[in-house]
Amino acid sequence: VFEKVPAAPADAIFALTAAYKADTHPNKVDLGIGAYRTNEGKPWVLPVVKKADRAMVNDDNLDHEYLPILGLMPFRMAAAKLILGANSNAIADGRVGAVQCISGTGAVFTGAQFLARHYPVKGAECYISKPTWANHRAIFEGVGIPVREYPYWDPVTKGLDLKGLLGTMQTAPAGSIFLLHPCAHNPTGVDPTPEQWKQIADVMVAKGHFTFFDCAYQGFASGNLARDAFSVRHFAERGIELFVAQSFSKNFGLYSERAGNLTIVARTPQIKDQIESQIAKSQRAVISNPPAYGSRIVNLVLNDPQLNREWEENLSTMANRIIDMRKALFDELTKLGTPGKWDHIVNQIGMFSFTGLTTAQVKVMKDKYHIYLTDNGRISMAGINTNNVKYVAQAIDDVVRH
Ligand code: PMP
Repeated sequence: VFEKVPAAPADAIFALTAAYKADTHPNKVDLGIGAYRTNEGKPWVLPVVKKADRAMVNDDNLDHEYLPILGLMPFRMAAAKLILGANSNAIADGRVGAVQCISGTGAVFTGAQFLARHYPVKGAECYISKPTWANHRAIFEGVGIPVREYPYWDPVTKGLDLKGLLGTMQTAPAGSIFLLHPCAHNPTGVDPTPEQWKQIADVMVAKGHFTFFDCAYQGFASGNLARDAFSVRHFAERGIELFVAQSFSKNFGLYSERAGNLTIVARTPQIKDQIESQIAKSQRAVISNPPAYGSRIVNLVLNDPQLNREWEENLSTMANRIIDMRKALFDELTKLGTPGKWDHIVNQIGMFSFTGLTTAQVKVMKDKYHIYLTDNGRISMAGINTNNVKYVAQAIDDVVRH
């Protein structure tokens, strides 16, 4: 019965990882997938996660019963507090909801599905940054919300196109949905400054747009949890209703465990309850209830002051290694006198750098140097280390000159 089903294209980023794995060249480098690597190029289980893991193994009270539909209660509350801050007025007012989801992807989906069913502005479209994480379009279109783009990356300055962004926000129909990256924008690594966030919030309020933050890198970007949450906290302090999808994949290194949360800042406690009840109804029909393992680890760490401190140290280790590698790559390119300006590599933040390399140059990086990166010229800084940074810089130098 399915002979007419057309084959779908493979996911670009997972296909890239597979190609890297199949490559037998000794100098191959994986700058594709957004997962942290040590200086030896290995995945890293955070020491604090190991500790929490051991505590769980020794806890005879833990079982494998179902979690509630909305997830592990103390995890949900801790996640909301992490993004909004311990002194959040919205939390004190009792108008913050939280739903445990299948990591960041599931949280974006859960929020999008709720909007598709209950957002009251007829025909509202969702605006995503140009460029953005490819799944944003797929998720919103998947739930039936049309997607448009707002300018974000300025290829000339290799920085933020604030004018274009604000311009599109101004001209978008009132009550549109805007998907914003609070920190460590994927794929560009370019974030608005606090002042620019205030301007963005001004327009969002003036136009009555709905704010949907997708936060996949809190603490991972700068090593500082509060700094990375500035935008979300600023919006919430101004009384803006919003959703925040939170992923614990990167900042806890829990990629496969799918620990995530959707934090909801509503106008009143009653509205918060209404939203949560609808999401519970939908969640029951999609996943029934979320998985426990990852959320238990995050919960143990976030609710224990000592483990929390250790987590922040682990975060700094990851963030600082990446910042060091930005500097090292920049220094190598400067030494080589590679044509063009490269300071964006050090100015950008988080897991990724948008190099400005063209698709044709990316192909040479792959074919000649066995260095794997996405076609849009994005590199995962986590794939760079002291052993391969010279090699990567030489390859970039070569492709830029030819
Ligand atoms: N949003 C953005 C912008 C991301 O970069 C990612 C991770 N690549 C995610 C969401 C979600 O990741 P996960 O589902 O693994 O939490």
